[in-house]
Amino acid sequence: MHDTVIRGGTIVDGTGTASYIGDIALEDGKIAQVGGKAGPVKREIDANGLLVTPGWVDVHTHYDGQATWDPVLAPSSWHGVTTILFGNCGVGFAPVRNEDHSSLIGMMESIEEIPGIALADGLKWNWETFPQYLDALDEMPRAIDIAAQIPHHPLRVYVMGDRAINREAATADDIASMRDAVKQGLKAGAFGFTTSRTNSHKTPDGSMVPGRYSEVDELLGIGSAFKGMSYGAFGVNSDFDDETEELKWMTKFGQDTGRPVWFLLTDRPTDKVRWKRLMDGVTRPAPKAPWSQPRSPAVRSVSCWESIRHSILFPSGRAIRLC
Ligand SMILES: [Zn+2]
Repeated sequence: MHDTVIRGGTIVDGTGTASYIGDIALEDGKIAQVGGKAGPVKREIDANGLLVTPGWVDVHTHYDGQATWDPVLAPSSWHGVTTILFGNCGVGFAPVRNEDHSSLIGMMESIEEIPGIALADGLKWNWETFPQYLDALDEMPRAIDIAAQIPHHPLRVYVMGDRAINREAATADDIASMRDAVKQGLKAGAFGFTTSRTNSHKTPDGSMVPGRYSEVDELLGIGSAFKGMSYGAFGVNSDFDDETEELKWMTKFGQDTGRPVWFLLTDRPTDKVRWKRLMDGVTRPAPKAPWSQPRSPAVRSVSCWESIRHSILFPSGRAIRLC
């Protein structure tokens, strides 16, 4: 007898085959049957008229704050997401010193539109380092799986203070300290490290984020933390001011460390073949460099007309918002 049967749903099994109607049976917490008619069962779930699919893995979210207080992680879990990755775009809440709590909240609100009032209410700040942040995340059972990345901007402020906020170049000592912190974070279970080099990310006063103009020495120096690791990826959100140079250092990171580097493949209405040039950089230059799959967050630009940021990135969005 099966433990659970999801009965009569429209199954989209993720293999690329057309959907079909059937049962899914579970035994001992594992899928025992997909399709067909399942036999006797202790618990039955009627899925007639509903889609039954594998769980979604959302590789770009900003749940860094909510994940510390919300075991349900709505709305992602409501939508069928079973694993989320956060700490993208170089923003997050660790490492952090007491005096920087509100500026990290402001940066998250300004860049990712997560209301600062909710973050200020929910964050307990019972951590300083990234490993301590992971411990805080571990304190509750969850509806879905999570993976956290070490964000560059808080790390830069943690190590360099006001010099990071003023976007000064990192010294060799700064770079070594950031590299060591990333290494510790990776060893404690971080999924990876992210940075952002885009003008669309600004602090509440309109300034560029601390890592916007980080030099290649800093990026590769921090990236050297991945040497010898058997897991972990380096994520980048970039305007690609100089596409050749950006692709060059990312390729070098992959060759130096053997770890994947990924970037957001975003579209530009004013440059319709940009994505093709960037994809060329992924597939052409260095077979030894392990590139992961680029992705596009452009769909979000039309997901919310109340948005203060994403919908105004495009002329059509601006026109509608002005109506
Ligand atoms: Zn992001």
